[in-house]
Amino acid sequence: MDQSLSSDLLPAADEAFVEAPEPRSFLDRLFDRGLLIRTGVDGLYGRSGAFESVVEALDRLVSRIGGSDGAEALRFPPGMARASFERSGYLKGFPHLAGTVHSFCGNEADHARLLACLDAGEDWTAKQAATDIVLTPAACYPLYPVAAARGRLPEGGLLFDLQSYCFRHEPSLEPTRMQLFRMREYVRMGTPEQVLAFRELWLARGTTMMRDLGLPLAIDPANDPFFGRAGKMLANNQRAQALKFELNVPVNSEDKPTACLSFNYHQDHFGTTWGIHQADGAVAHTACVGFGLERITLALLRHHGLDLDAWPASVRAQLFG
Ligand code: ATP
Ligand code: ZN
Ligand code: MG
Repeated sequence: MDQSLSSDLLPAADEAFVEAPEPRSFLDRLFDRGLLIRTGVDGLYGRSGAFESVVEALDRLVSRIGGSDGAEALRFPPGMARASFERSGYLKGFPHLAGTVHSFCGNEADHARLLACLDAGEDWTAKQAATDIVLTPAACYPLYPVAAARGRLPEGGLLFDLQSYCFRHEPSLEPTRMQLFRMREYVRMGTPEQVLAFRELWLARGTTMMRDLGLPLAIDPANDPFFGRAGKMLANNQRAQALKFELNVPVNSEDKPTACLSFNYHQDHFGTTWGIHQADGAVAHTACVGFGLERITLALLRHHGLDLDAWPASVRAQLFG
């Protein structure tokens, strides 16, 4: 896929003396165009104004689609309380993805040592200590303790609209696998019936949205990337119970399409963890739909080209109309 789409960018070769260049990867072409900006770290990129205009348009489009549901919008910064993070259970499933915020906690002598280490090119982080903040791993994680603190859910349950930069330590050369990226979410809390109906609704809405954006897609059962051998069992269980679905679009390759949206039924996991209760006192069930804003942007760039002005009129109308 890469080769066919990038062949037009290869120079017309004077074959005799010029070695055939490697085809530019999708990531390199994004850099070439300035849509993404290198930082020296895989998965950590700047974004151009054009790239951001698509992210913002997608955010608005999702709001339009979900607009009449009366979701309560909340925005959290990309860090969350370490205490909440510890209680959430994230470290059980995904220790390898977590990112913690550490700060210098030494005295003046430690400061001098830090600078000496830096000068010598040695490890300077010895006096860095964990702060009360960790990086948010998914947009919905800071929400559960807040919802729990409000007391029992109303009869109809609750619906939230979230967006956050999220961190996952999964450095990669695939542009769709970033370490810091934005996730837009809707989160439903209530009875099993309420949250499953919500997930069905968004499976249909998400499919229509992405089709209307001219993207080829498939909805597939999925599992979270749980850590280790115990994680395999959790993953199998998640699939056996059809708890997670992903909307996949070929972006980096046809064989390994990219999850651009995900639809997650947590059963009573967060309800139990946080003590969230339904109106009748039963433990609440929860579900969320997550939109990877950079991933959908990259899917659009992949399928409609790197020049936004040349995108199909119908796609531009959906986003910018
Ligand atoms: P994957 O299967 O690709 O590892 P995931 O199943 O871990 O993704 P979720 O935890 O369901 O993803 O996150 C919700 C959404 O956030 C995904 O559907 C995707 O669009 C986006 N997302 C997840 N990880 C990344 C990442 N590393 N870079 C960019 N977007 C991401
Ligand atoms: Zn979520
Ligand atoms: Mg996945």
